[in-house]
Amino acid sequence: MTSADLRKIADACDMFPDSKLKLSGEITIGNIIDPKENEACREKLGLPTFSIAGFSIRPVKVCAGGYTCNNNLQDSFSFALKLDKRFAGVEVPFKLIISVSGCGRCCSEPQVKDIGLVASRGGYALYVGGAAGGKPKIAVKVAENINEVRALQAVDKIVQFYQKNGKSMERLGALIEKVGIEKFRQDSGIETSRSF
Ligand code: SF4
Repeated sequence: MTSADLRKIADACDMFPDSKLKLSGEITIGNIIDPKENEACREKLGLPTFSIAGFSIRPVKVCAGGYTCNNNLQDSFSFALKLDKRFAGVEVPFKLIISVSGCGRCCSEPQVKDIGLVASRGGYALYVGGAAGGKPKIAVKVAENINEVRALQAVDKIVQFYQKNGKSMERLGALIEKVGIEKFRQDSGIETSRSF
């Protein structure tokens, strides 16, 4: 974001003086329930916006590698933007968070996200089924050293598997636990560079 974008956000916040602003992975402006007000806010922002209501893939969480940090081992920031463009807002049985980190320090916490990608010199490691919050779960590594194309294909297959098999309000990790990691591998059809 630029400082001009931040000014737009401040202006949009002024439309809802009683509302609160939350700054975290996403920037959440208040609790705008009226669809007309919501639309007016979107117009004023002129930025990509996203409603957090509903069961959908959240905007991709990414670390600062390649942006304000130089420790990244792949072009992870650009890759996260590609993933965001492809998957953010896609409907799934419950919320699903994708996280990308530029190196093994894992600043975007990919191992406690539904789908995590961690860059290494050989490509990306792929993790599935993690969660934070009240029922934390450490994700399982299902592939490593895969390039961007294969990683994107794998995420696509995992999302399709989740859409097909997940029950309403069932997180991906709970679904994988229910079917078992081996059946998940087979049914989702994700290719792995080696078995874990
Ligand atoms: S995960 Fe690595 S590349 Fe990303 S911000 Fe942290 S140290 Fe930098």
